[in-house]
Amino acid sequence: MKTKENIMNKKIDKTCTQEAGLDNHNGGEVEEEPPGRRAICGEAEEELPGKTITGRQRYFGQTADADWNDWKWQFRHRITTIESLSEFIPLSEKQRKDLELVTGCYPLSITPYYLSLIDLHDPEDPLWKQAIPSILELTMGQVGEEDPLSEERDSVVPGLVHRYPDRVLMVLTDICPMLCRHCTRKREWHNGGWVRSGEEIRAMLDYIRRHVAVRDVIISGGDPLSLSTQYLEFVLAELRQIEHVEIIRIGTRFPVVLPQRIDDELCRMLSKYSPIWLNTHFNNHREVTPESATACDRLLRSGIPVNNQSVLLRGVNDSGWKQTKLCHALLRIKVRPYYLFQCDEVQGTEHLRVPVEKGIEIIRGMRGYTSGLAVPTFVIDLPGGGGKVPVQPDYTLTQAGDELFITNYQGHLFRCHNPKDGLIDDPAFTADFAAGTLTANTGEVRNADRVGV
Ligand code: SF4
Repeated sequence: MKTKENIMNKKIDKTCTQEAGLDNHNGGEVEEEPPGRRAICGEAEEELPGKTITGRQRYFGQTADADWNDWKWQFRHRITTIESLSEFIPLSEKQRKDLELVTGCYPLSITPYYLSLIDLHDPEDPLWKQAIPSILELTMGQVGEEDPLSEERDSVVPGLVHRYPDRVLMVLTDICPMLCRHCTRKREWHNGGWVRSGEEIRAMLDYIRRHVAVRDVIISGGDPLSLSTQYLEFVLAELRQIEHVEIIRIGTRFPVVLPQRIDDELCRMLSKYSPIWLNTHFNNHREVTPESATACDRLLRSGIPVNNQSVLLRGVNDSGWKQTKLCHALLRIKVRPYYLFQCDEVQGTEHLRVPVEKGIEIIRGMRGYTSGLAVPTFVIDLPGGGGKVPVQPDYTLTQAGDELFITNYQGHLFRCHNPKDGLIDDPAFTADFAAGTLTANTGEVRNADRVGV
C-alpha cells in the first residue's frame, strides 16, 4: 500500500499541517466546523469540481477497483499496527510511544475504506476520533467500568444475554472490521478474536427454544457480519425453526465501516429469513457516502428495514447542527434515526463522553425545527443492567385540574385539555351533553391558542 503517489501526497500534506497530535483534545465545544484549517489544507467536498481528490485516490490510488470493492480484501488489509498506520500519518517519537502504550491495552483496527474517509491531517476530525487510538484512553482510563451494562452477569449461557422478558442478545463473535474507540465491549478486545463454536451456538438455541416468551432475538457485536455468510445463515436458519421467535435483529457497523460487505449474496441470504431488522451505527454525516448509501439501499430492496443507533460523542456529533446534519443525511438514504445513545460508562472512553444535559439540549434543538422522523430517541443504557431509558426534554410545565400547561419547541406556552379516564361513561357528562351545556366548559380561549393549517 506504500505507493509512490502516497509518498508524494504525504509530502504535500506535511507542508500544510503540523504533525498530527494524537493527544490533542479541545473539549469539542465548537458548534460549527472551524473553516480556517480546511481553507488552508482543503477538503475533498470543498474543492472545485474536477479537482476533487478522494481519500481513496490519495492513499489507495494503486488499488484495483476489484480489490477495493471486495470486502474480503478490505478485511485482510485492515490497518492494525502502528507501522502500517505510520504509512498514512506521520508520527513523532512521542506519538509512536503513546500509540504503543494504548494499543497494548486497546488494539487498533481500521478498514482501508474507513481510513480513506478520515481527514488524516486533523486529530479533531470526527472520523479520526472514532478510529485512531488516543492516549486519553489510558490517562482517563480509571473512570468507568469494563462491563458497565453487566452483560456478563446477565449471560444465561456463554454469549447469550437475557435481560428483558421478550428479547435476548446473541453475541457470536468479538471480531469487528474496525475497533471503534467508544465501543461498549472494549473489554472483549483483549481476547484476540473468537467466534462461538457450533456447540456454543446450539446451547444458545436450546435456551431460546425452552423460553417461549422470547419473540425477538438480537444478534450483535463484535460484528456478526464478520462471520461468513454461510455461518450466519446456519444461525438464522436455526432461529427461524423456532416458532415463537417473531423477529430477528442484526446489529452491525459494516454499512458504515465496510459497506462492500453488503453484497448480493448476503442480501439474498438475509431475505430468506424475514422479518429481519438491521440496526447500524452512523455517528457523523461524513460517514454517509455513496458506498454506504448503496449498502443500505441493497438491504432495503431485500426487505430489510435499516435503523440507525448513534452514540453521542465529543467532537463527533455533540451539537444540534451535527446531529441534524447526520439525521438528514440518514433520511436521504432511507435509514431511520432510531436511537441516540448516551455513551456508556466504559473504561477507556471517558474522553469521548458528553454530559447528558447536552444530549437533552440537542434533542430540544432538533424537535420542531425538523421532521419528527429525523429526531432519534435519546437514551441511557443504565449501568448495572438497568436497561434503556429515554431521556427527553420535558415540555409539560404543570398540571392544574384537567388542564396541562405545555411549552412548544419555540418556548411558547400552551394550555391543553386533558380528558378524564372513563368520561364517556360518566352520567354527569352525558347529561351535560344532552342539556347542551358541555361546550360552555370547553374553551374559546383554548381554541385561540391554536393554529390550524
Ligand atoms: S462495530 Fe460495534 S462492537 Fe465493533 S468495535 Fe465498533 S462499536 Fe464495538
